[in-house]
Amino acid sequence: MEIAIIAHDGMKADMVQFLNNNLRFLSKPEINIIATGTTGTKAEKLGLTITKYLSGPKGGDAQIAAMTAEGKIAGIIFFRDPLGKHPHEPDIQMLMRICDLYNVPLATNPATGSLIIEGLLED
Ligand code: PGA
Repeated sequence: MEIAIIAHDGMKADMVQFLNNNLRFLSKPEINIIATGTTGTKAEKLGLTITKYLSGPKGGDAQIAAMTAEGKIAGIIFFRDPLGKHPHEPDIQMLMRICDLYNVPLATNPATGSLIIEGLLED
């Protein structure tokens, strides 16, 4: 099962805390975590195995959107910074549209992220 994680700079500390809170689930051998570059590097520091793609502003969100459209992603944890401005805003909008188009679970904050993980645990 492929889970994607992405966090904007203003949300990276929240992402690290979220990953720490869910380490048992995320460390399972059947879970493959994919991430944008910098988010992935932070997650690796927790001991998680991560497949890293480009950094978000360099096209990482677009890469993850493409995989989502291809049916390869079970869920996305995407902590957006609601107070920040982002040069890759079009890519962010595309990723969210693709999730809606293909009915892929998308969490944009830790509260929803926890619900997605609980839901995936039940599968
Ligand atoms: P990053 O990208 O993990 O490489 O920082 C996240 C983003 O800004 O979309």
